[in-house]
Amino acid sequence: LSDRLADTFRNLRTKGKLSASDVDGTVREIRRALLDADVALEVVKDFTGRVRERALSDEVNKALNPAQQVVQIVNEELVGILGGQQRRLEFAKNPPTVIMLAGLQGAGKTTLAGKLSKWLAKEGHKPLLVAADLQRPNAVTQLSVVAEQAGVAVYAPEPGNGVGDPVKVAKDSIKFAETKMYDVVIVDTAGRLGVDAELMKQASNIRKAVNPDEVLFVIDAMIGQDAVNTAKAFQEGVDFTGVVLTKLDGDARGGAALSVASVTGRPIIFASTGEGLDDFEPFHPDRMASRILDLGDILTLIEQAQSAFDEEESRKLAEKMATDSFTLDDFLKQMQQLRNMGSIKKMMGMLPGMGQMKDQLENFDEREIVRTEAIIQSMTKAERENPKLLNGSRRLRIAKGSGSTVTEVNGLVNRFEQAAKMMKTVAKGGMPQIPGMGPI
Ligand code: GDP
Ligand code: MG
Repeated sequence: LSDRLADTFRNLRTKGKLSASDVDGTVREIRRALLDADVALEVVKDFTGRVRERALSDEVNKALNPAQQVVQIVNEELVGILGGQQRRLEFAKNPPTVIMLAGLQGAGKTTLAGKLSKWLAKEGHKPLLVAADLQRPNAVTQLSVVAEQAGVAVYAPEPGNGVGDPVKVAKDSIKFAETKMYDVVIVDTAGRLGVDAELMKQASNIRKAVNPDEVLFVIDAMIGQDAVNTAKAFQEGVDFTGVVLTKLDGDARGGAALSVASVTGRPIIFASTGEGLDDFEPFHPDRMASRILDLGDILTLIEQAQSAFDEEESRKLAEKMATDSFTLDDFLKQMQQLRNMGSIKKMMGMLPGMGQMKDQLENFDEREIVRTEAIIQSMTKAERENPKLLNGSRRLRIAKGSGSTVTEVNGLVNRFEQAAKMMKTVAKGGMPQIPGMGPI
């Protein structure tokens, strides 16, 4: 590879400008990746709209490496929606600090009560767990077990006192905490399998009774697309000051985090990552953004776009295109390479400057490659290198040899000529190394 050409590519990679269609292609991929990560559609639309606007602004056009800039914009927007800075728990000026937990059944509230109290105890607080879930018969027992594991006290109605009134229990627990000098009260509440009016009413009444400093909405990260509606319902029904995302140890892709933070505007304060009481940590917006980027495959996509055309191979091709020695063998190799790329259409969207080619590839047909292979393999070496040799009788021979018709052979030669012409144009305008998509 000549030094001059190598320099050309290096410049393309670092100084490329992104056109509107480049940005649209990338934004399409981001959109798909976010939907794959289970981010709600309305959030995705909103998000990609903002990324597109910024990606097309001067901020990026002036950048040395636009592709890298786009990734950075995506990251910044993600971190922004996720609350930017890490949000800490608010403590009351006059103890006790009251923290109420709300959320659907199975979200992980009771487990969180244990985790939170253990963590607070370690920080020097004296927490009290309050059993205001009197719905399920064993809920109080479960909270007591968790409290014992965490080494903290629990406030619960006396057993055998009938069903009990969770609002009264919650209210009484505050007085109890005041007299016994507990400085943080964590009120565990009942959940239902789905959102319902009675549940909201009870949670709302408990809220009024205890006047909490924090109401933490606990949500299972695996809930996926339901996250938005559940979060909205709780925001309307009870309202909350912060969010706790649970079950992040599962294969949840983090989309729920983005959806909930985006539609409620409430910060995510903690992340729960397992069943054990220590599987719990303050939530870091930047880490979650990376997780969404990673799992959403956005970075991978861009890397794929870079390596899809195997570097060495595409350099050789580029050299040939530039020097007009692009042969039918190269054409075949290129088709095979495209096939190896996996989802061709997906890749095309990623490659700036590949707009025209994309349309051709939309109609990409696997059988066509097989046919093309057969036809090209029926040609002599000389014919492959110099398609101009292909006169009528040679074409007939090739058609017979490959089990195809002369029309098909003609069609292939035409496509090759078009491709060669296009390759030359693109090579002059500078395509092969994906302008602007330098190493991330
Ligand atoms: P609640 O109905 O909201 O009180 O939910 P629970 O605290 O009873 O939790 C429901 C189930 O989820 C239990 O089996 C917990 O062990 C489990 N769980 C809670 N948090 C997590 C978590 O972060 N990761 C995993 N894997 N399981 C969790
Ligand atoms: Mg519970």
